[in-house]
Amino acid sequence: MNNFELYNPVKIIFGKDSIGSLPSLLQNHEKILFAFGGGSIKENGIYDQIKTALIHKDVYEFSGIEANPEYDTLMKAVELCRKCKIDFILAVGGGSVIDGCKFIANAVKFKKSDPWNILMGEQSDNALPLGCVLTLPATGSEMNPFSVISRRSMQQKKDFSSVHSYPVFSILDPSVTFSLPERQVINGIIDPFVHVTEQYLTYKVNSPLQDRQSEAILNTLIEEGPKALNNPKDYDVRANLMWCASNALNGVIGKGVPQDWATHQIGHMLTALYNLDHAQTLAIILPALLKHEFEFKKEKLVSYGKRVFNLDYSSDNKIASSAIDKTEKFFRSLGAKTRLSEYKISKKDLPDIAKKVMEVSKGNKLGENKRIGEDEILGILEIAWT
Ligand code: NAP
Ligand code: FE
Repeated sequence: MNNFELYNPVKIIFGKDSIGSLPSLLQNHEKILFAFGGGSIKENGIYDQIKTALIHKDVYEFSGIEANPEYDTLMKAVELCRKCKIDFILAVGGGSVIDGCKFIANAVKFKKSDPWNILMGEQSDNALPLGCVLTLPATGSEMNPFSVISRRSMQQKKDFSSVHSYPVFSILDPSVTFSLPERQVINGIIDPFVHVTEQYLTYKVNSPLQDRQSEAILNTLIEEGPKALNNPKDYDVRANLMWCASNALNGVIGKGVPQDWATHQIGHMLTALYNLDHAQTLAIILPALLKHEFEFKKEKLVSYGKRVFNLDYSSDNKIASSAIDKTEKFFRSLGAKTRLSEYKISKKDLPDIAKKVMEVSKGNKLGENKRIGEDEILGILEIAWT
């Protein structure tokens, strides 16, 4: 097993009516930025619950944080926070609102240069404290230090990580997910699934505990995911999916093991160029990447095939390749598309996409073996297109 450090200070308040904990969680803060997205919380009653919980606070609302949060929008919130001397940010939404608020929190305190530099790799020294009410379980953002921000004018989607971005608390009430449209339920199964495979389908380092933790999350997503689509009002199913999503990317399963993340890096470019949902890009890229990197990932693909899909063939090659087929079939069974051509993306665009991914990574090759460069990305995209 590789050496590691683990630090995760996020307090999780999980369960029905947990929004009721907000007043006590916020007792040491007065000027609150209440940030949310495009209005789903007004339709499903969460907005009213939050307003009631914040009744004795000085509340500044900031709405309109888009899916794939936009830098220019977030900078308006940064200005508001500075002007009104906000002392706490409450993010109410899915990964986009939470990621956006992590950027706002860091950018408010970042005075040494243009806050865009946070996304270009400069470390922030401080951030406003942030709390979350999660409404869409998928990204794990509620329990990690990561954030992904888009700048449409530059066709960029970039991530940053800061120890100052960990939420102080995250409230997870599974019943708030009943109002999710089916497309977002599907996204909320696929994104955590791929977060796990990015940390599990690499090469062996003798880490049986992390392997089994990863397999447990994958098995649970495969069992519970379809139930959420067939019976959307089942609280326990929603609760299990919500907890899977947090555990898929709260740091634990990735400690001491190699990590890949090439599927995410290629996927971010597809979102930046074609506006596909984050998880839609992952459902396309993961099966293609596993095929392309077959020889390098084969040992783990065999374990995955045996333990997650119960495959039992005499040939390891057959188990590993069937495991990839099963992965793609699982995504399709949920209703996801798994080929670039299904989104009417032209085959002629593929070299340009590969080039742009490498530009964003500043020429650094991707994947756990750091062997995926422009040619390999093009190879993956060609498999993903067919
Ligand atoms: P999202 O972009 O936050 O939300 C998608 C849509 O779902 C929005 O239109 C939102 O509407 C709606 N929605 C949210 N909760 C709802 C509810 N309870 N009922 C009805 N509609 C609801 O989706 P996401 O998948 O959570 O986040 C995607 C972003 O996170 C991407 O930018 C991705 O790159 C990033 N990401 C971050 C991490 C990380 O570790 N930080 C990991 C993976 C991906 P409203 O706008 O009206 O609320
Ligand atoms: Fe993701």
